[in-house]
Amino acid sequence: MIDYINLPFRVEALEPAISKKTIEYHYGKHLKNYVDTLNKLIVGTKYEDDCLEEIIHKSWQSLKSEQTIFNNAGQIFNHNFYFTQFSPYLTHNEPNDKSKIYQKIISQWGNIDSFKEDFVKAGVQLFGSGWIYLSLQPDNTLIVTQEIGASNPTLKNPAIKPLLTFDVWEHAYYLDYQNRRAEHLNALWNIVNWEKIDSLL
Ligand code: MN
Repeated sequence: MIDYINLPFRVEALEPAISKKTIEYHYGKHLKNYVDTLNKLIVGTKYEDDCLEEIIHKSWQSLKSEQTIFNNAGQIFNHNFYFTQFSPYLTHNEPNDKSKIYQKIISQWGNIDSFKEDFVKAGVQLFGSGWIYLSLQPDNTLIVTQEIGASNPTLKNPAIKPLLTFDVWEHAYYLDYQNRRAEHLNALWNIVNWEKIDSLL
């Protein structure tokens, strides 16, 4: 049985970056549906007692018949990560310059704005539906990756540690931004919970 997470903020707390209506559909309908579907699909299968990560890693390169299990499980993992990394909207929302995440970004990108630009560009350039991840690699450097569909960076490298993700499926922004994906992604910087991200390092 896979849990449907609680949001760590009120449904209207992310406005205007993400509207209450989008949260009600995205969390209330899309994520809920992935959880309900997966819990129905795994009954009586070898996945029944597995945790989410086990289901994802075992079903990833499985037979076609188990792709639906992977797709739903992968999307639950991605959405759980996504929805728990935000905090209420702030006009100026930057990582603390004494934090590890700040130091790491500065040492690789030179400044925070260059990192944000690269991250958003990866999101804009992803064709179709998917996710952009910032992760920590085993050599202690940061990497930005594009993940298609329900994928995440731990599939290709189990030693990688996800830190931040932006959802570039249209359901994440279409109600608020229609086709303006870049505008939506840039607005997310106002709600990123940098302390949470730093705590993962
Ligand atoms: Mn989504």
